[in-house]
Amino acid sequence: MRGVTWSLPPQAYKLRDMADTIFTKILRGDIPCHKVYEDELVFAFLDIGPLSYGHTLVIPKEAAATLDQLSDESAAAIGRVLPRLCRAIMAVTGAEQLNILQNNGPMAHQAVFHVHFHIIPKPSVNQGLLIEWAPGKLDRGEGAKLATALSTALEE
Ligand code: 5GP
Repeated sequence: MRGVTWSLPPQAYKLRDMADTIFTKILRGDIPCHKVYEDELVFAFLDIGPLSYGHTLVIPKEAAATLDQLSDESAAAIGRVLPRLCRAIMAVTGAEQLNILQNNGPMAHQAVFHVHFHIIPKPSVNQGLLIEWAPGKLDRGEGAKLATALSTALEE
């Protein structure tokens, strides 16, 4: 993925205060976009800086900054339509592979603080999303503790 530059250090961004973004303006029709799909809860349009042909953004109409702040209803609505959007993008672009990317927070490369899912066709090794992946090793004991902590957190 291309580098993102920040006018402020990542810590300076207050994610919860950044609901009125460029995507809100697109949803309101204040700035134009190439719309691909719309329903009651979801909107999809072409990314203005595509990593590959067909790069599409899928957003909830709900103004949540990051995924953890999004309602189950909007998340479900996006989940319901994502496979259909992928199929259309694959059919039209001819790409048989793709990445779904969803960034949360400036350190995680989020530039627009309105939840969005990227659908990025991967037509060749050098096009689309380029990922640096540096896996560690999961310790069995630490893994057991962590999985328990997460399960417990999910019950709260
Ligand atoms: P992020 O880095 O936040 O996950 O991705 C934000 C994406 O929004 C980028 O890929 C960028 O090209 C796209 N984007 C930013 N501003 C606009 C805009 O005004 N119109 C459209 N269509 N896409 C935008």
